[in-house]
Amino acid sequence: MIQISMPLNFLGGVYREIRQALVDMGEMFDLLEQPAEIKDKPGAPDLDVRGGAVELRDVEFAYDPARPILKGISVKIEPGQKVAIVGPSGSGKSTIGRLLFRFYDVTGGSLSIDGQDLRDVTQDSLHANIGVVPQDTVLFNDTVRYNIAYGRDGATQDEIEAAARAAQIHDFIIGLPEGYETRVGERGLKLSGGEKQRVGIARTLLKNPPILLLDEATSALDTETERGIQEALARAGEGRTVLTIAHRLSTIADADRIVVLEAGEIVEEGTHADLLLKGGRYSGLWARQEAEAA
Ligand code: ADP
Ligand code: MG
Repeated sequence: MIQISMPLNFLGGVYREIRQALVDMGEMFDLLEQPAEIKDKPGAPDLDVRGGAVELRDVEFAYDPARPILKGISVKIEPGQKVAIVGPSGSGKSTIGRLLFRFYDVTGGSLSIDGQDLRDVTQDSLHANIGVVPQDTVLFNDTVRYNIAYGRDGATQDEIEAAARAAQIHDFIIGLPEGYETRVGERGLKLSGGEKQRVGIARTLLKNPPILLLDEATSALDTETERGIQEALARAGEGRTVLTIAHRLSTIADADRIVVLEAGEIVEEGTHADLLLKGGRYSGLWARQEAEAA
């Protein structure tokens, strides 16, 4: 008995892990690549989200012990607040997103949601409470409906449509030859970058997570599309805690707080207006982006 049931249990566990990893990879792509092997503590309870406060306290992290990436980061996000992290490429922005999703554990300090250390709760419950809109939404060779409902079993047509409306893609969908039944993806209708991203937003909204993690698109969406996506994301963020990893400063100017990261350290923090007045790193980044856009 034991000889048979043990390997079966073991395989079941491995299967679940692989399947979970695939789902997560599909959803997250760039932001959360290469998940490490993180295990739940035995008997860990589910994360109990009340308001969705996120707190990083003196967070230190290194992929390789010889090379520290985050060097004592403290950020407190109140429930419903919108906080953006900006900084040069390689400064550690996406790493913070990966830690929030617990694809890695911090090597120092702590990361908590509503006072619960991420290491103390189940990963399933953590993932269920954080919605990610990735830079590049993966579409399956299936219907639009399937692509939006993916990740949430049993969603009704009304719920799917409400999510599509909020993502501002519903009108586009009903204009397709077969509406929500239209097949998309490699072997179906090819959607533009902006349309794919809206499907991704609708997919996330259907999950209705209290916390949103956005890793902004760097892909060259045209300005019009970009503006539309920003509107959809702003609507998506209503009533949720939002952490945005920003590349384009123009899209995060109205965040409650902007955190400027450089080489794994916070060098400035404040609102867009505060930081421009200060005339430091952020205002320098801003001036450069304005010049590029002109
Ligand atoms: P950003 O999003 O600000 O551009 P990242 O958080 O992606 O930066 O990366 C921060 C640093 O960590 C970079 O130097 C990057 O090369 C390194 N890094 C990112 N992912 C890994 C990984 N899986 N293994 C080792 N180093 C990594
Ligand atoms: Mg990044």
